[in-house]
Amino acid sequence: MAGGAPVEVVVVGGGFGGLEVCKGLARAHRDGKVRLTLVDKENFFQFNPLLPEVATGAVETRHIVYPLRAFCAPRGIRFLRNKVRSVDAEARVVHLHNGLSLRYDHLVMAAGASTNWFDIPGAEAHAFPFKTLMDAIRLRAHLVEMWELADQAQDAQVRRQLLTFVVAGGGITGVEVCASFMEMFHRTMRRLYPNVPLSLVSVHLVEAGERLLGGLRAEHAEVAARHLRTLGVSVVLHRRVAAVDAERVTLDDGAVIPAHTLVWTTGIRGPVGDVAWPFPLGRAGRFKVDAHGQIGPGAWALGDAADWIDDTGRTLPQVAQGAFQTARCVATNLLATLDGRPLGTVRYQDMGYIVGLGRHSTVASLMGLPVSGVLAWYFWAFYYLFAMVGFRKQLEVATDVLKGLFVLHDTTQIHDRKRMLRAHDLDPEL
Ligand SMILES: Cc1cc2nc3c(=O)[nH]c(=O)nc-3n(C[C@H](O)[C@H](O)[C@H](O)COP(=O)(O)OP(=O)(O)OC[C@H]3O[C@@H](n4cnc5c(N)ncnc54)[C@H](O)[C@@H]3O)c2cc1C
Repeated sequence: MAGGAPVEVVVVGGGFGGLEVCKGLARAHRDGKVRLTLVDKENFFQFNPLLPEVATGAVETRHIVYPLRAFCAPRGIRFLRNKVRSVDAEARVVHLHNGLSLRYDHLVMAAGASTNWFDIPGAEAHAFPFKTLMDAIRLRAHLVEMWELADQAQDAQVRRQLLTFVVAGGGITGVEVCASFMEMFHRTMRRLYPNVPLSLVSVHLVEAGERLLGGLRAEHAEVAARHLRTLGVSVVLHRRVAAVDAERVTLDDGAVIPAHTLVWTTGIRGPVGDVAWPFPLGRAGRFKVDAHGQIGPGAWALGDAADWIDDTGRTLPQVAQGAFQTARCVATNLLATLDGRPLGTVRYQDMGYIVGLGRHSTVASLMGLPVSGVLAWYFWAFYYLFAMVGFRKQLEVATDVLKGLFVLHDTTQIHDRKRMLRAHDLDPEL
């Protein structure tokens, strides 16, 4: 701190980790010890666990996001809706996309992860990523488009292809996406598209490993696989997507699935994007942090953006709990640095997980205790309500969950229609 001036702290990314680190530094900010600036390319926090519900119209789009200014303004934190263009680590300056530059004493990289396409031919061009709110909005519009086209298609093979949906990656997100698709198709599309027989619909979940939900309890993987199969999902294990184009998905054993829809939920990488970060990178393009979260002098990383090994040697998982715990460690260590105190490490506490399997069904582990079935479903619904930022959002999601017991999924298509029709080689004036 030069001459009593507050220490400039710039946090890049207002997700789970970024907001938690701001909370950890809020008091020092209030006391004038540090001055916090939060930068995010979006102007909202996004609650990822409910993206499958948004993609299928079970939860309203705006209900899972929270304006970052509503978080920052009451705490007096400066917010900039902007994207990082580059960082000059030596001069300690962050350059933003509009030419603005921010000098910092401490930089916290909490920019999350981006989709890893694993260089699979055609994946980036043709598959649907599933990371952002826009991804969920686009997927929802595309799903409805497939049903609209199938409703009018004359040829049975064309209809079947339109109604074939492939999901790559049998982790939590892939399983939840398949369950949400089936719930939407069986409950809503069946009624709204009486001309389209459900027998033509197929959903394939392709997983490279030997079971679904790798890393979670084996019995939960079995429950999930059984449940998905009961719903009609074809669970394909030991297989990878090898290529994709606008018409088909090819697997690594040469099998071809004629489909216009591939949802990519497999693999994430660091937030590298088009930025040449001046910090060491670890696995999958994430920032290589030391045991305290540092990536360089006055620079820190946390959450999905960080390749972090805790003090038991465990690689931290890229989940919300990992973001919370690393953020708390970084906030504490940053303040300790200012006071000349020793730095701490993280010992990851596994609080459990929840996998939504559609209406009234879920598998969960709560502090190591396995739960599943209807009770777990209610636990899932209320866990999310509790975890949502702000009372208004809790109320909105609560309303959606209750409403979902009585009303159908919202299938309104909000999208750039001409662009979508062109993507299917159809007359944009249709
Ligand atoms: C569909 C889906 C479902 C999930 N479900 C679960 C679940 O059920 N349970 C669970 O524990 N975890 C779940 N996760 C994982 C969890 O969301 C992440 O682990 C968590 O969000 C990581 O927090 P973070 O703060 O590191 O990153 P994020 O929460 O992703 O936040 C990163 C922020 O950085 C911003 N940003 C990125 N690049 C830049 C840039 N260059 N400049 C400025 N800002 C930038 C982004 O806009 C974003 O706001 C899910 C993830 C997805 C995608």
